[in-house]
Amino acid sequence: MYHRIAEPEADIWDIAVSPAQFEKHLQALKSAGNVVPLQELAGRHADGALKKNSIAITFDDGYADNFRVAKPLLEKYQLPATFFIATGNIGQAAEFWWDELEHIILFAEKLPARFSMRINNQLIEEELSPAALTAQMRQKHILWKACTEAPPTPRCRLYYRIWEQLKPVPPVEQQTQLQKIRDWAGVGKGSRPDFQSMSLAELKEMGKSRLTDIGAHTVSHPALASHAPAFQKKELAESKLFLEEVTGERIDLLAYPYGNFNKDTARIAADLNFSAAFTTEEQVVKRRSDRFQLARFKVKNLNYGQFSKKTLWQNRTN
Ligand SMILES: [Zn+2]
Repeated sequence: MYHRIAEPEADIWDIAVSPAQFEKHLQALKSAGNVVPLQELAGRHADGALKKNSIAITFDDGYADNFRVAKPLLEKYQLPATFFIATGNIGQAAEFWWDELEHIILFAEKLPARFSMRINNQLIEEELSPAALTAQMRQKHILWKACTEAPPTPRCRLYYRIWEQLKPVPPVEQQTQLQKIRDWAGVGKGSRPDFQSMSLAELKEMGKSRLTDIGAHTVSHPALASHAPAFQKKELAESKLFLEEVTGERIDLLAYPYGNFNKDTARIAADLNFSAAFTTEEQVVKRRSDRFQLARFKVKNLNYGQFSKKTLWQNRTN
């Protein structure tokens, strides 16, 4: 499971792999010799005919670098991959809320000394001193891994607290709150081209290519388990329909945003004729795996040796 093939200045969620390292991964995968399209792996799983040590490559979210950087490299090595697309940002000059939030809270040159806002019925208050970003703070923010490390500065702590409360709320409220945060920080609604999603034309081409195919990842990337079944259904159905209209193909694979789902989600996915759905749990797919809870391994920015050992060798199934 990849997300971005890029070198952003900071990567607090550890989801960016540099183009050079990604090419090394593809070399390792090519020499492993057992990469199959995800459709084939899911089909074999459904038929009880999984081949040992099959590997499928996936990407989540739909960042533009998937098309501009990953796709040409996949073609160079003739390796197939499936791209799970959060459709709401396709063709939009917009960033995902978590990227924009990171840019504002961790990297704005100056912020007001005090933050106080109620988000998701939680009062979030933080004293930011010094409010100006020093070179030393900036360095700490660049190095911080939010998924594994405690926040090293008040700004990091504030980011994480806001992120936790924005993650479960409806997309409309996320955008309302984000606007309040922009106003508080004194920044406009800007979006960095490197953080945008694919254009409609790029998505269309991605769907047409023989090596790459498309799966659903909802419209607004919600934490599905935090929402009522009707909302979940709307997110799944609308993203599926959008992708089917753009690609002209049937979309029957799904990846849950944040790997987050509840007992309603699989039933809804089945009702909507998805054939399989993927989580972010780090496990191999086995014969007995639930087809709506197929696991994946997150791939970090590893070099050839680390990737071969940690991602390929340690997870082999025989
Ligand atoms: Zn995602």
